[in-house]
Amino acid sequence: MYNQYKNINFKELCNELESEFIQKMNETQIKEDEHDFNGIKEGLKKGICYICGEPLDYVDENNPCFHWLINPIIKKKLLIKLLYSGKGLLRLYGYLTWVANSDKPFVNIDDTSEGNDCNKIFETTIRYKEFEWTFSLAKTDFEGHSGTNSDYSHFHIQMKKNGKVIIKFNDCHIPFSDHDKLMIEMMNQDVMTYIPSYEAGLNIFSELDYDEVLQLMTRPDSENSAVFRTQTLIIIPKHCKKEVSAKFQELQQKTNWTAPKIIEYLNKEFGYGIIYMTQIIPTNPITKSHRK
Ligand SMILES: [Zn+2]
Ligand SMILES: [Zn+2]
Repeated sequence: MYNQYKNINFKELCNELESEFIQKMNETQIKEDEHDFNGIKEGLKKGICYICGEPLDYVDENNPCFHWLINPIIKKKLLIKLLYSGKGLLRLYGYLTWVANSDKPFVNIDDTSEGNDCNKIFETTIRYKEFEWTFSLAKTDFEGHSGTNSDYSHFHIQMKKNGKVIIKFNDCHIPFSDHDKLMIEMMNQDVMTYIPSYEAGLNIFSELDYDEVLQLMTRPDSENSAVFRTQTLIIIPKHCKKEVSAKFQELQQKTNWTAPKIIEYLNKEFGYGIIYMTQIIPTNPITKSHRK
């Protein structure tokens, strides 16, 4: 891929920045993201696009906007126009994952590498209401398909509506944007790490450590608790089985604690030595589509 940012030494540039400045920049970004994410979420509740301020079914053919992707009545021709309008991979992906997460966190995005064939750099499926998109990027896409019209660096998207494919993977060979190239180069030079934040999908369940899960589980947010449940396997020492069962039931009724939290409490307070294993099971997660 031709990348105009290749000649910039980002490491050197970053070394010249004060660490305080970088920290400030990161903090500002986090605040901005939070503000924008809430803006998208609130807008969607009212059927309004946060980016252009228009209703979701509004189309100005000369000004492609991200919300076209969730426009219930848009024509395929215009969707393809949007895909080729220079938004690029990261911005399209960012928009759709934020939209999906605003509906329900994590379970609408399969960003795990499970089932991907080894040629894939990445393949992710995103769902929002009646829509579903799959981004697919193989090494051969990144290199360009030589000897064809698509000999440039590109990625593919499949789009479904109500389970029916409306854009096939092969319909578009979408070029990367300048913004994509800048980000790719900065990641290659190791000056930037990707933290999914509001883009996070099912992959988060394999990365979270146990304490973080517990924190998520006890968050007083009914939306989150519907996203996944835990299954806990409990082994209670024989001599205290009756005692533990009684106390366990009592705490279950009295508190809104999860099983692991109750066990931790019982172990700490009474030294029972109960052993447990917890598995996190997402509720109704999206199933990934693969490009063959
Ligand atoms: Zn818009
Ligand atoms: Zn391709």
